[in-house]
Amino acid sequence: MISVYLSLGSNIGDKKAYLEAALERLNQLPQTTVTAVSSFYETAAWGKTDQDDFLNVCCQLETELDAQLLLTECQEIEKDLHRVRHEHWGPRTIDIDILLYGSEHIATETLKVPHPYMTERAFVLVPLFEIAPSLEIYGKSITSYLKTLNLEEVRKLQS
Ligand code: ADP
Ligand code: MG
Repeated sequence: MISVYLSLGSNIGDKKAYLEAALERLNQLPQTTVTAVSSFYETAAWGKTDQDDFLNVCCQLETELDAQLLLTECQEIEKDLHRVRHEHWGPRTIDIDILLYGSEHIATETLKVPHPYMTERAFVLVPLFEIAPSLEIYGKSITSYLKTLNLEEVRKLQS
């Protein structure tokens, strides 16, 4: 079993329902169990600011799927949840990114792990820290990356 961390985001429609549906689908993947889910966090849209706020969550999986197959499965879930691929960083019903796949470093055409932007994004690191406070990325703690970021843009959703 490999321990994997994913980041999920949504910024159109019933965002919480999309995230919950995606988590449910991830848990139903073969040889895969969702073992931890963070709180949901609201974030002002990143990159492009003329769109609705994002809702983000991180989860941990234990899986026997290899990384490429897991990516394909995640893209299948995105497709089934009607994600519309119009513009880079544009609105989406659901985005699923693989942050970490065990301690592996992967750099293929279609898959880069650790996710290239994860250490720059508060909306990724804040929920990740909640479920994996002692995790290290490139040998450094999550808190050391968080110190360099503006954490005010990420708000925990009161459930
Ligand atoms: P983004 O997540 O950057 O907003 P997309 O979700 O549209 O954009 O992803 C674009 C491409 O990123 C996908 O087709 C996928 O092959 C690639 N990709 C590379 N590394 C990863 C990763 N770690 N997790 C998810 N997708 C990845
Ligand atoms: Mg993505």
